[in-house]
Amino acid sequence: MRSLFAVFVLGSLALAGAPDGGRVADPRASERLEMVQRHLVSEGIRDPPTLEAMRSVPRHEFVPPSLASAAYQNRPLPIGLGQTISQPYIVAYQTEVIRPRPGMKVLEVGTGSGYQAAVLSAAGARVYTMEIFAELATSARARLERLGYRATVRHGDGNLGWPEEAHFDAIVVTAASSHIPPALVEQLRPGGRMVIPVGSMYGAQNLLQVEKDADGVVRTRILLPVAFVPMLSGLR
Ligand code: SAH
Repeated sequence: MRSLFAVFVLGSLALAGAPDGGRVADPRASERLEMVQRHLVSEGIRDPPTLEAMRSVPRHEFVPPSLASAAYQNRPLPIGLGQTISQPYIVAYQTEVIRPRPGMKVLEVGTGSGYQAAVLSAAGARVYTMEIFAELATSARARLERLGYRATVRHGDGNLGWPEEAHFDAIVVTAASSHIPPALVEQLRPGGRMVIPVGSMYGAQNLLQVEKDADGVVRTRILLPVAFVPMLSGLR
């Protein structure tokens, strides 16, 4: 009996140190659960690993301290250098489209704060994420490490993808492009899926789902109208 008790206590301690075990002592946990219920579940997000990840990742750690009080509202927030962290519904929607599962290899283009990368990682994906601003790549890398999320961050132009790590089971693009970058289609594995906002810089944009079948045939489907910051080129 005594040894069983010891095992239980050790188990609880280990949980408290894990990324989502932190929930236990997280003062914002109830706000987060309410956000997931009100803005995701009620609005049709259904994929269990996606919802679980959205319930566990502390969004307030990914926004500037002065905006932390607004972290669980369903809106995008500025993260510096003219960039934004997407609203929670869009993060969940893009995550659900690729159906993240443990072990999946996922490329994200547009690291920003690192929040979407953390959500993908919490859902079990092996995440590779690219950011064109060195400053954002550096701070997101440090933040993800501090919070215990495994994701490899690279300062680079996502238009070119990450050829050394291809192919990817899924690709999530979080900046709007005028077209679907051919390198990303190439780096998608047959049977893989990409979700990407496409449209003009400040005009109409649509979120597209791009699927490559086992024979390499690519099919594109329009999912919903969106408003993302533009995809840039040239390292900054
Ligand atoms: N996914 C982010 C938010 C993305 S905002 C989050 O969860 O916080 C879009 C990001 O894409 C910005 O940080 C912007 O700097 C970056 N970006 C724009 N063009 C890019 C490109 N060509 N390659 C990589 N990142 C790019």
